[in-house]
Amino acid sequence: YSPLAEVDPEISRVVAQELNRQRNTLELIASENIVSRAVMEAQGTVLTNKYAEGLPGRRYYGGCAFVDVAETLAIERAKKIFNAEHVNVQPHSGSQANTAVYFALLKPGDTILGMNLAHGGHLTHGSPLNISGRYFNIAFYGVERGTGLIDYDKVMAAASESKARMIVAGASAYPREIDFDRMAEIAAAVGAYLMVDMAHIAGLVAAGLHNSPIPHADVVTTTTHKTLRGPRGGMILSKEKYGAALDKAVFPGIQGGPLMHVIAAKAVAFGEALQPGFKEYQQQIVKNARALAEALSQRGFELISGGTDNHMILVDLRNKQVTGREAEQTLDEVGVTVNKNAIPFDPQPPMTTSGIRVGTPAVTTRGLKEAEMAEVAEIIHLALSFGGDEGRRAQAGAMAADLCRRFPLYEEGGVYAAP
Ligand code: PLP
Repeated sequence: YSPLAEVDPEISRVVAQELNRQRNTLELIASENIVSRAVMEAQGTVLTNKYAEGLPGRRYYGGCAFVDVAETLAIERAKKIFNAEHVNVQPHSGSQANTAVYFALLKPGDTILGMNLAHGGHLTHGSPLNISGRYFNIAFYGVERGTGLIDYDKVMAAASESKARMIVAGASAYPREIDFDRMAEIAAAVGAYLMVDMAHIAGLVAAGLHNSPIPHADVVTTTTHKTLRGPRGGMILSKEKYGAALDKAVFPGIQGGPLMHVIAAKAVAFGEALQPGFKEYQQQIVKNARALAEALSQRGFELISGGTDNHMILVDLRNKQVTGREAEQTLDEVGVTVNKNAIPFDPQPPMTTSGIRVGTPAVTTRGLKEAEMAEVAEIIHLALSFGGDEGRRAQAGAMAADLCRRFPLYEEGGVYAAP
């Protein structure tokens, strides 16, 4: 019996179609992942009915005894994973987490130094289209033209020239390790706060595979749904001295009632991250990214910075005579999902781009390993390297379908049970 199918057949059909799509495509979007049935189940519970403005033990509503337990578990588990002094698990998303930090520590008009969106930064790090770029004065640092790497001396120069009050480190499209110790040194030298947005790499940090920003930054923000493999959402981790200001900035500063069903799912995901298997999973993400980078290079693909240290690869497609937009579309047609992505100094506009961003978190969850990364690279090669060659595209589609069959998702014999 499915109440959804009965009450709302149209939405029920959408859910079935999306499940089918996820089962039958290879998910290479670097910011996505595939959650466990337990995480999904926690989200689909009666906790969605509950108002719980405030914090555990200090709510503005009655009846919070049980949701308090869920939120406390989420906080305590996150503290343990990241060795953080203070945690707020209420931000509805990564963007809310970032906005709350600005609201807590800055005044409108203060200067934020963030990574240029066109070089891999995120919209919330100062884009004029985002509240961060509207209410604050923004300065940017970027990557170097030849290497695709951050030049920390230039970050230092930009920090002192801009009189930054806050430096934001972290990125949406940077395939190399970021030196948070160095960023902290720069922030200290100019008297700025250091905020690290570790959204993309949180799982790697949790597993000790990327240097942790926690000891270096005043505040660390993250999403919970990328490498960390939790429900969609955000989180703020900080030194104890900023805890009260950050909590107040989340609620009542920018949000109302927390999403208690999502917070319960965050607790479940953090519980999973504390299991020994999680470290192996993160190690496999990194091994897969390296294997995929190597296999793509062998097929003539040019990679920004020449490779990867983390879970993602940024491919410069100019030598393949295909734009990012065309590549995204062609790969979609053969059953591989990626996103078009600007490369540093991209001559193409943002809706076209010269690159794609490719990530391994979701396919690693699905069970693919290094051997399969060679197949994935071959699929991408067949789809993109030969113009419109129909035969090769058909072959790419057949190979992708075969991989999906061999690594079933949300069904018996595959990763996770059927939903
Ligand atoms: N920060 C970084 C570095 C991101 O890559 C993203 C999303 O891709 C966000 C923040 C925003 O997260 P959300 O989409 O949950 O608002």
